[in-house]
Amino acid sequence: MKAALSDIDRYIAECEAKAEAQFAALDETALFNQRKVLDAFRSNRIASNHFFPSTGYGYDDVGREKLSKVFADVAKADAAVVSPLLANGTHALTVALFGLLRPGDALLSVTGKPYDTLDSVISGEKVGSLKDFGVSFDKIDLGADGDFDYPAIRAKLSKIAPRVVLAQRSKGYEWRDALGISSLEKAFRLIRELRPDAVIVVDNCYGEFVERREPTEAGADVIAGSLIKNPGGGMAPTGGYIAGRADCVAAISQRLTAPAQGAEVGSWIGGYIPFFQGLFLAPSVVRNALKGGVLFGYALSGLGFETKPEPGAMPKDIIRSVKFDDPKLLVDFCGLIQNASPVDSFATPLPWSMPGYAHDVVMAAGAFVQGASLELSCDGTLKPPYVAYLQGGLTYEHCKIAIAETIRHFNEMPALRRRNGP
Ligand SMILES: *Cc1c(COP(=O)(O)O)cnc(C)c1O
Repeated sequence: MKAALSDIDRYIAECEAKAEAQFAALDETALFNQRKVLDAFRSNRIASNHFFPSTGYGYDDVGREKLSKVFADVAKADAAVVSPLLANGTHALTVALFGLLRPGDALLSVTGKPYDTLDSVISGEKVGSLKDFGVSFDKIDLGADGDFDYPAIRAKLSKIAPRVVLAQRSKGYEWRDALGISSLEKAFRLIRELRPDAVIVVDNCYGEFVERREPTEAGADVIAGSLIKNPGGGMAPTGGYIAGRADCVAAISQRLTAPAQGAEVGSWIGGYIPFFQGLFLAPSVVRNALKGGVLFGYALSGLGFETKPEPGAMPKDIIRSVKFDDPKLLVDFCGLIQNASPVDSFATPLPWSMPGYAHDVVMAAGAFVQGASLELSCDGTLKPPYVAYLQGGLTYEHCKIAIAETIRHFNEMPALRRRNGP
């Protein structure tokens, strides 16, 4: 049963041949986005003094100001807050929501249940959640086809007037495809028509630089996300961002620090090089991760596993979901990704009961930056249908090596249903 290495190489070469048109399209998007980022650096006249550290209050911190300005220009937004003081994506989204919502306001999600970590933010009991502050929450699930449920949105918005409408671009931990920019644009047009005053906020995690436009170019008022995902380019050591309409970002800035201080304070002694450099690299690194995901899609579907998106489809975020239908295969797969990582390759991920999750989870995260998921990483919940969420890959070559090792391992398992594998 054991396939020779050359068979595996040949199999991967076949997968690459199938991916040719997708790879070419991803290269074109990367070129487009690289130019957009470079132009933002040039028009903002970025220079080495913008990389300097700051201390204390951080008054007149030009690095902080320029980083935010460059990011805003890339997202075609009026303003942005890009900061290592935002602990993660959840924090960025939390600051955005608390900055915009007031007691008595309603928040409506139009993409079903928001990302898991937002549950406590929105409706946690006695933790200072939006609910604790008197903000109500409602959601509209996506339709069976994975797209927005337009009739439901229409019906709901004729009844309630939410202050904030929230949409999540990525698939999160759902077995569905991510939403493309054109789908978002269509839904936002309807929401705008029905409720012109609602502020449209997009959880943009995992979506940055996947397409040529960000949601701020498609009708969203505010986007927020994490710098240890796509826009940090694998270089940012921490942080988050919020970008959008001037009045919205101004309101949100008051929550970021303190009322009347907003984005005028906040220092960073570590200096800003990795944030600028990471943003500059991001279009290219995101493309590498996307190519890796497409190759994983072909390679694993050829072995009989269902993946999302379908191998032939263009990815709309950097996550590749793989259905294993078997807890052992899921844990094995995470182990293979861990062993193929540059950091902690010797570790074996085991399922554990993470606080806040109903089932055990297993994670592979052999990353330079703790938890960074633009680096090749993978996680899954120990419940049927045992789906692995694989994402990232700083280089395409790294993904390819990890794929070869995965295929070799699975080939040695006689029980596996193989269709077209090596
Ligand atoms: C990662 C992610 C977040 C925020 O997660 P953090 O781990 O706090 O950075 C929010 N929404 C989605 C869809 C995400 O993928």
